[in-house]
Amino acid sequence: MENKQPTFLELLLEAHIDLERQGPGSRGAIEQALKFLGPLDGSSVTADLGCGTGGQTMILAEHLPGTIVGLDMFPDFVKRLNERAKTNGLEGRVKGIVGKMEALPFVKGSLDLIWSEGAVDNIGFREGVSHWRGFLKQGGYIAVSCPSWFTKERPDVVERFWADAGSRLDPVEKNIEIMKDCGYAFVAAFALPEECWIEGYFSPREKAIGKLIEKYDNCDTVREYAELNRKEVGLYRDYKQHYGYVFYIGKAV
Ligand code: SAH
Repeated sequence: MENKQPTFLELLLEAHIDLERQGPGSRGAIEQALKFLGPLDGSSVTADLGCGTGGQTMILAEHLPGTIVGLDMFPDFVKRLNERAKTNGLEGRVKGIVGKMEALPFVKGSLDLIWSEGAVDNIGFREGVSHWRGFLKQGGYIAVSCPSWFTKERPDVVERFWADAGSRLDPVEKNIEIMKDCGYAFVAAFALPEECWIEGYFSPREKAIGKLIEKYDNCDTVREYAELNRKEVGLYRDYKQHYGYVFYIGKAV
């Protein structure tokens, strides 16, 4: 048991650092998205934005040649990605760096592929894909997943929950229009299946939070944090016909 009361942010980081991934997704969804991309070679450069601890980065490295740079604002996540790369013998071509998705440190027009799972909604879909477009080569690809509305009806409780979490959801058709507006040809969009949420994210996160409840002796912040996460799971269970994660693939034109 620890005496110090953790902050919300500390809990968030601690609950996520040991997870395979930090948001909904799966190997199957990644492989499905990869099928829509053009070929890469040993000189290709891929950026994985909002990479977290690099769960998807390692899967990308199994499939893609060339260099992969993961970027995330949390140094502890980036450190974990770099440790994973080393363990997998990938440190020569997979590297994590600390940075902001809204102010990319890459050379303009230098990237062959921008990959980003479950992160763009933190800065807004339009802001993200329009800023990122400038860093892609002509003919380069973008593959980005984020929570999106499936239906015209948008239950208030869901809208408020995501707004409080700092994310805004847009309808799938609107995001496709935004991509076209921002200099991409639309290639494909598909919704992630339920297992990406439950087995891929919610279940392992719940286990991690259970450990934190014990570690911090059920203190107020940990209880609040656990409650917030339960609410997110309950909303998904009750309203999943209205929203979900969608992978969008586009080609820079
Ligand atoms: N792509 C990973 C992590 C998704 S969680 C996965 O799918 O498992 C979202 C990630 O985006 C977090 O790691 C968070 O630190 C990062 N993030 C959020 N806002 C960011 C910003 N403005 N710049 C860089 N990273 C950001």
